[in-house]
Amino acid sequence: MALYHSTRSLSGDLYPAKHAILHGIADDGGLYITDDLDEISLNVNDMCNKNFLEIAQTILKAFLSDYSDEEIAACVHNAYDASFDSPELTPLVCVGKRHILELFHGPTSAFKDVALQILPHLMGYAASSNDKKIMVLTATSGDTGKAALEGFADVENVGISVFYPHNGTSEIQRLQMATQKGNNVFVWAVEGNFDDTQTHVKQIFANTSLAHALNQENVILSSANSINIGRLIPQVTYYFYAYAQLVQSKRITLGDKIDFCVPTGNFGNVLAGWLAKQLGLPVHKFIVASNENNILTDFLTTGVYDKNRPFYKTISPSMDILISSNLERLLYYASGNDAAYVAKLMDDLAKTGRYEVQGNILARIQNDFECGFATDNQAREAIEACYKTHGYILDTHTAVAWHVLQNCGPSQAKAQVVLATASPYKFCKDVCNALHIPLDANASDFDALRALQTQSNTQAPVRLARLENLPVRFNDVITADDMTNVVEHSCKEIAQ
Ligand SMILES: *Cc1c(COP(=O)(O)O)cnc(C)c1O
Repeated sequence: MALYHSTRSLSGDLYPAKHAILHGIADDGGLYITDDLDEISLNVNDMCNKNFLEIAQTILKAFLSDYSDEEIAACVHNAYDASFDSPELTPLVCVGKRHILELFHGPTSAFKDVALQILPHLMGYAASSNDKKIMVLTATSGDTGKAALEGFADVENVGISVFYPHNGTSEIQRLQMATQKGNNVFVWAVEGNFDDTQTHVKQIFANTSLAHALNQENVILSSANSINIGRLIPQVTYYFYAYAQLVQSKRITLGDKIDFCVPTGNFGNVLAGWLAKQLGLPVHKFIVASNENNILTDFLTTGVYDKNRPFYKTISPSMDILISSNLERLLYYASGNDAAYVAKLMDDLAKTGRYEVQGNILARIQNDFECGFATDNQAREAIEACYKTHGYILDTHTAVAWHVLQNCGPSQAKAQVVLATASPYKFCKDVCNALHIPLDANASDFDALRALQTQSNTQAPVRLARLENLPVRFNDVITADDMTNVVEHSCKEIAQ
């Protein structure tokens, strides 16, 4: 049975997975983690004969052992049966000598769908064992909010309220949220920037009198943040499935080691891969690819994590991050499950914006991880070169990984897989730029989308293309001070 505790906890309290999924983050600010990894090793040979859904069930059962088999099966089917536009869900395609694992076939055309399609169902079962309803609050700069809305829409026992900065998202991102369907969804544009919105959501979570009042109505607030184990663990699935696809198509033989190159921000995606390796997946190296916010490149090279540095806005905005929260989990394991040590590092980070890990811990990490980064120009060049050579269009995030892998020396791995985290159509203006497709100065996102379709003779995901003509449901712009009120109001609606 896998039990969870805080990465920073010395108390010895252990919780079942449902508790960790419902609460998201531990009371001491640490992340939930399990010490039972060696107990849940899996038979890779068996996994290679399974499809995505079967692998997902095996992984979830192993990690979330307090869910019944029926609950796991229902979660997997509700999440994945009808929501992806590829029969494989996460197909592996051959591009030159490399392989690309396409993680963008879900409803919002980005990889977060894999986890956010299933998290609401996992939360729903965790809440119903508890007779509560859950209101998920999300501040978003664009991508996460929509992926969360798509996942939570019309799921029983949960509701979702999303706040995004007014005039702070792209037109496509705004319409993705403003046109969202579902009876339990609430979407608000908030005056101010993303940080203001985020700060106010945190204040609402910390408001104990509000929590008390909502509790009277049997509603608890929760978050769909990427530190929730309910987002991390479903991502383990596609690492096994990528390997299974390589074996099934005879491009490798069982037991061969492979590399994964991952466009990284919060370190959630690549950490899920590392967990797969702990469960027995034959991986040679994980290559952590960053954009100009290359704090992870520095950390993995020197052992010093220092966020006292400029923040750059890049063409890969979902990787514009200076605090890679999920790294805390790797530090826990790499330090030999030393919660006191992790608590000390995180305290250093909070007080000085910096920490440094011991040499032996860095060496252990470097055993599994390589790294590199790409500037915006290098990412654009990668998009252009990959299209010219292979006829394959990378998105701006995947292009970072493509560049980084190209710059790594030769590898002993039998195959190399690049994780594609978004459809090029989600960031089509920047992709058009990289491919030198001419656009008018005042071209809309949809003009860029059509130009990319015509020039490349490929098809945009239907759910992006038809946004232009969907009815807008949410048009309200509120001030940050209104946020608490609208949360109370939306909680009343789902409590009924
Ligand atoms: C969120 C996101 C990432 C970063 O993933 P992490 O798990 O935060 O490392 C990369 N690419 C895209 C398109 C994303 O949406």
